[in-house]
Amino acid sequence: MSFFIREDPLTGERCIIASVRSRRPHLLREVVEEEPFQCPFCPGNESLTPKESFRVDGDSGWLVRVIPNKFPAIPHMHDVIVDSPDHRTDVDSMPHLDKLLWTYKERLVYYYNQDSIKYVAVFRNRGRSAGASIPHPHSQVLALPFYPRRFLKERDRYERENRNVLGDLMKKELELQERVLSVSKNFVVLMAYAPVTPYEVWIVPKEQVSSFVFESRFEELAEVLKDTVSLLKSFLGEGLPYNITFQSAPPWDRDYHYYIRILPRVAVFGGFELETENVIVSVAPEEAAMELRTVKYAGKTELK
Ligand SMILES: [Zn+2]
Repeated sequence: MSFFIREDPLTGERCIIASVRSRRPHLLREVVEEEPFQCPFCPGNESLTPKESFRVDGDSGWLVRVIPNKFPAIPHMHDVIVDSPDHRTDVDSMPHLDKLLWTYKERLVYYYNQDSIKYVAVFRNRGRSAGASIPHPHSQVLALPFYPRRFLKERDRYERENRNVLGDLMKKELELQERVLSVSKNFVVLMAYAPVTPYEVWIVPKEQVSSFVFESRFEELAEVLKDTVSLLKSFLGEGLPYNITFQSAPPWDRDYHYYIRILPRVAVFGGFELETENVIVSVAPEEAAMELRTVKYAGKTELK
């Protein structure tokens, strides 16, 4: 058993890592979703949803649809994005994932051009325990008239330390190689140093890009995201519930370094987390990196 307390260099939040092999949450059983009688996001059922505000078309019908959320957290500021016409797919098997990522960017640009919007959240919930109420693959975009807590905490660190905190962390991680999962031309994939969930992964652009609004390398990013999600699933189970979040600054804030988080929902928050707003994580990130790398290399050997 290993035990230590870590502070997230970006937010200053502490987490307890209490790594016990027997408590590992790997190889989850596939979550069986209850099927709705008629899926409002499947092709042919478009009339069941509000009229779309944006759409990406393919050779045989739409690939991505953006519709106003029927139950918005904030009226007129909350999109649902139907990620794919395929009810059973996920990001690791979505041929047009690059176009979905581009759609996120387009929606960010759209909302940041509205008056009084401070921050636009883009996220994707997969599986009931990750907050997805409809099993059909979808994402959400929610524009806020205030800066969210996590972003404020991070910005505070950037300002106080007067440096690119994430950029420096990434350089250190690349030297150490303890928590690095993969490196592509423009992106580094890392296990989070002080995670919120076991197996939390970050995808970080190598060069500083402050906001996803300025991203354009969607094909490469789609490949990186596919490989990472597929790796997590091959280790934690095909039915893995997880969230993807885009930690990205508004376009007027150029000092930030955006990144994407993948948060497997293999642990449930209990009283401790609610009382303290700190978390206990049952797998050390460097052990998680080692386990995932083993799966990755085992997979490669099989392909030969
Ligand atoms: Zn469907």
